[in-house]
Amino acid sequence: MTAQTSRAQTIAVAGAGLIGLACAFELASRGHDVTLFDPAPPQKSTGWAAAGMIAPAYELMLQPGAPDQAFGAFCFDSAALWKEFAARIEAETGVPLGYSSKATLALARTAEEEDRLTSLRGHLDEMGHPARPLSPAALEFNFGLAPGLRGGLLLAQDHQVDNRRVISALRRLFEGQGRVLPQAVSTRYEMEAHAGQAFETIIWARGAAESGVMKQVKGQAIALSPVAGLPRNVLRFGPRYIVPKADRLIVGATSEPDYSGAGVDPAVARTLFEEAAAVLPALRQADLVEHWAGLRPQADGHRPLVGRCGETEFIATAHYRNGVLLAPATARLIADQVEGLTLPDTYTQFAPRQVPGESA
Ligand SMILES: Cc1cc2nc3c(=O)[nH]c(=O)nc-3n(C[C@H](O)[C@H](O)[C@H](O)COP(=O)(O)OP(=O)(O)OC[C@H]3O[C@@H](n4cnc5c(N)ncnc54)[C@H](O)[C@@H]3O)c2cc1C
Repeated sequence: MTAQTSRAQTIAVAGAGLIGLACAFELASRGHDVTLFDPAPPQKSTGWAAAGMIAPAYELMLQPGAPDQAFGAFCFDSAALWKEFAARIEAETGVPLGYSSKATLALARTAEEEDRLTSLRGHLDEMGHPARPLSPAALEFNFGLAPGLRGGLLLAQDHQVDNRRVISALRRLFEGQGRVLPQAVSTRYEMEAHAGQAFETIIWARGAAESGVMKQVKGQAIALSPVAGLPRNVLRFGPRYIVPKADRLIVGATSEPDYSGAGVDPAVARTLFEEAAAVLPALRQADLVEHWAGLRPQADGHRPLVGRCGETEFIATAHYRNGVLLAPATARLIADQVEGLTLPDTYTQFAPRQVPGESA
């Protein structure tokens, strides 16, 4: 890649959610002068609702249709960046982020799930990311999982981080520097008026409120009190997961494209709990401590929108199911483009197809 310019720029980021914060962190680390705008506390963002899985392998299986090579490569690249990205944030903020590279266990409860894991394994082999099969006996005796599972895969590339800690740490960092302005913004003019300064570059990262987001898919998840002696691996089965954090266990999630309200349904909490306890019986000792819902921002399909959307404006949104996974690669991609670096062809595919004019 060739640098055209790495001169420090004044940059405004609309949205201090997971993606806006990741972009701001990367840009500030490269010496740019960054200001963020966000009218809401982090607890209202979709990033707060996430489970923190960094799951390039398992998420491949959840995509409809033929494998999307460019998207798959972006996901694996981003997962590989996470360890160093987390270490840099920890060094800058002093906040431990709970990043764990322990392998994820993908489980098959039914013959259909077993078939899907078999084809995932073949696909991962072709991509050069082989996954090790696990027998029902290994799952029961080595990991304390329920008898009756049909088998599983050990996904060495699928990791996790505590997304709430990432968001809190970065928000506090930028707030402490007076770099977060609590305004909702939709034009460059508004940003410059609120900040009392001109910006050379704008990054649009308002999540579900961003242009190009065509729908939102609701997800409900629950948190349980921690139980001693459980495996520290993320467990995935069908559309569900159990994600152990230092202070809680997250069980998720629903995928509701046609939801009627943004709130939670107690019947869903019971279903999530029962499905999780059927896989990991020791969970029956746990208490329900939280139940929430979030709206995943989606464009057309599973690809995010990341790239140039005007002469000096860029967009980073529509990360749908994978905003945590894709945060470091998105931040790098945006920062590289802001600095005028030439990108690999694969990555230019995530820019909006039609570049709109700049905002007023
Ligand atoms: C239940 C659930 C579980 C999930 N689990 C995972 C997971 O394990 N792994 C994973 O990779 N992904 C996961 N996701 C998806 C992930 O949460 C999203 O892809 C990600 O949060 C998108 O980040 P974002 O910054 O674009 O949006 P957000 O996190 O929503 O942030 C957008 C920000 O923009 C601000 N904003 C809105 N309007 C304006 C405005 N006009 N001006 C300024 N600011 C504005 C908002 O206040 C918000 O702070 C999950 C999602 C859900 C719902």
